[in-house]
Amino acid sequence: YMAKKEKNTYKYFTQEMQSLDAQLSDTRQRIRTAMENNEFFLMYQPQIALATGKLSGLEALLRWNNEENGFISPAVFIPLAEETGQIVELGLWVIQTACEQIQEWSISTGLSYPVSINISALQLEEKDFVHKVKEIISMTGVDAAFLRFELTESIFIKDCSSTIQSLQHFKEMGIQLAVDDFGTGYSSLSYLKRLPVNELKIDQSFLRDVLIDGSNATIVTALIDIAHSLGIRVVAEGIELQDQESFLKKRNCDIGQGYLYSRPVLGVDVTNQWLKKENSRILSK
Ligand code: C2E
Ligand code: MG
Ligand code: MG
Ligand code: MG
Repeated sequence: YMAKKEKNTYKYFTQEMQSLDAQLSDTRQRIRTAMENNEFFLMYQPQIALATGKLSGLEALLRWNNEENGFISPAVFIPLAEETGQIVELGLWVIQTACEQIQEWSISTGLSYPVSINISALQLEEKDFVHKVKEIISMTGVDAAFLRFELTESIFIKDCSSTIQSLQHFKEMGIQLAVDDFGTGYSSLSYLKRLPVNELKIDQSFLRDVLIDGSNATIVTALIDIAHSLGIRVVAEGIELQDQESFLKKRNCDIGQGYLYSRPVLGVDVTNQWLKKENSRILSK
C-alpha cells in the first residue's frame, strides 16, 4: 500500500514540476478560447437600502459557463486569470459590459442604478488602467457616478504611490470606491481616512454567525459606527435571514446584499424582476 501511495505521490509531483509552464499556457489558452467563444457573462446582485427596502444598486459578478466543464466558480477562475495576467483584459471586458448594461437599462426602463465592479489588484498595477477606464466611459457614454469599484483591503494597505494616484483619479472622475470583504485581512483602519473610500462592505463571514456570536455582533456594530463617523456608507454582504436584516437595521447599516433579497441574476432579469416593478411603483404614485 505504501509503495503504491509513494509511487502515486511521486508521479503526481513529477507531473506537477515538469508541466508547470505547460499548465499555465494551457490555462491561458482555455481562458483565451472562452473569451473568444463568449463563455463569460455577468450577473447582477441587487443591493437594498435597508431603511426603505428599495433597490439602491447592483454588484456585477463574473460567470464562466463552459460546455465541457460546466459552470466554473469565479473563486476558481479569477485566481487563474490573475496568474496568467489575463485578468487585466477580462477585467476591462467586465467594466465595458457593465457600462453597456447600465446604458441598456436606462434606455429600456428610464432607470439608472449604480453598479459595483470588482477590481483585481493586478488591474490597478497596470499603468494605463485609468486611461482605459476613461476610454470605456466615453465610448459607452455612461455617467461615471454610476460606477463603483470594489477593491480588497490589501490594495488600500499596500500604500503604493501609483495605486493611490489611480484611486485619486477615479475619485476625480466621480467613480466611487468600496472596500470589499472588509474585516477579513487587516487590523489597520487608518487608510479609511487617508484614502478616498466611499463604502465598506462587511464580509459575509461576520454576518454568518452575528446572531449567535456576541463578539461578531460587537465587531459589526463597531464597524458600522466607525465607518459612519468617517462619512463612509456600509454594505452588509451575505444576508440570508430576516433576523440578520433586523440586526443590521437596528444598527443603522445602510445597505444589504444577499440571498434574502436576491441571488445574482441576468441583466434581463434585473429589468423584468426589479426595474419594471420600480417603474410601476413610480407610475402608481
Ligand atoms: P465578492 O465580491 O465578495 O462577491 C460576493 C460573493 O458572495 C458572490 O460570490 C455572491 O454570489 C456571494 N453571495 C451574495 N449573497 C450571498 C448570500 O446571501 N450567501 C452566500 N453564501 N453568498 C452570497 P461569487 O459571485 O461566487 O463571487 C466570488 C468572488 O469572486 C467575489 O467575491 C469576487 O471577489 C470575485 N469576483 C467575481 N466577479 C469578479 C470580477 O468581475 N472581477 C474580479 N476581479 N473578481 C470577481
Ligand atoms: Mg465584491
Ligand atoms: Mg465581498
Ligand atoms: Mg468575497
